[in-house]
Amino acid sequence: MNAAKALPKLTIILPCYNEQEVLPITQKVVLKQLQAMIAAHQVADSSRILFVNDGSSDQTWQLITSYTQQDPHFTGLKFSRNFGHQNALIAGMTVAVKDSDCLITIDADLQDDVSKMPDFIQAYHAGYDVVYGVRDSRKTDTAFKRDTALLFYRLMGKLGVQMVPDSADYRLMSKRATEAFLEFKERNLFLRGIIPLVGFPSTKVYYPRHERAAGKSKYPLQKMIKFAMTGITSFSIVPMTLLMNLGFLCVLIAIGVMIYTLVQKISGNVVTGWASLMMSLWFLGGVQLIGMGILGDYIGKIFTEVKRRPRFIIEEDLYTPHEHQKPDK
Ligand code: UDP
Ligand code: MG
Repeated sequence: MNAAKALPKLTIILPCYNEQEVLPITQKVVLKQLQAMIAAHQVADSSRILFVNDGSSDQTWQLITSYTQQDPHFTGLKFSRNFGHQNALIAGMTVAVKDSDCLITIDADLQDDVSKMPDFIQAYHAGYDVVYGVRDSRKTDTAFKRDTALLFYRLMGKLGVQMVPDSADYRLMSKRATEAFLEFKERNLFLRGIIPLVGFPSTKVYYPRHERAAGKSKYPLQKMIKFAMTGITSFSIVPMTLLMNLGFLCVLIAIGVMIYTLVQKISGNVVTGWASLMMSLWFLGGVQLIGMGILGDYIGKIFTEVKRRPRFIIEEDLYTPHEHQKPDK
């Protein structure tokens, strides 16, 4: 070994769900970029491109295995079923972190600018542990997607969740940042919200967001809403507070109703029993809503967390065995 620091080993993680249309282009572009970074002595030659097949029902896995046979930089991970984009990223990190100095996660559809990877690596060399890719224009997204995304980031901000606005899951993380991140064991992990909690020095790389190179978005409205809800409920207790406030409002109304019914009673134009009924109805209703709001939220959280279900199940791992076969140097 010479005195120079060894080049970092990079793993590029690409989650893939039914991406057979785009993968043939993606693999070429990403491999070319990786080879350029290797040639420029930015990363080690042992760096890898890891495709995580998230239970695709098309030819995605067949394509991935054929790539791994064509070039040793390619490797793959296959889920037993669809576990979702976030879990595909977590699985890629879990498997790759043991044997990488840094990781870059990027969507498989080439919407995120692959040619910016050297900037991420440069920031890594400059000592940053987390490098966020931030979209500086979202012209290519539909107006609806842009608006809902903006609304979402605003809402999350209001709910007190620190996120880097317009950062997608195009990101570089060092080994220690990834290891720290993987210590967060929540089932419903929302990466964009958790990663800022990991700490360590971080910076941003700006890039324009392109059109999907091929294929269709795997995030229909329904998935977008689920994604947003996970973000909100696993990070914020504001919905619970809202319910509680509703309870307080009911109690306030109850006070109003009490005064009203008392006045009515004093003026003598009510049926016996009506006054006490009205008062307790509103008051107790309010108190119960408050209590239920608090309990419901805690129980919901406990319910999902206590099951400790696996976040993903790997059916085939082409990454790890590869390492075992590597001759000792
Ligand atoms: N993806 C995944 N599992 C899913 C849905 C999506 O692994 O259940 C992957 C998908 O293959 C892509 C990335 O997540 O690489 C982002 O998805 P997509 O481009 O469809 O989302 P959009 O860019 O439209 O928000
Ligand atoms: Mg996309």
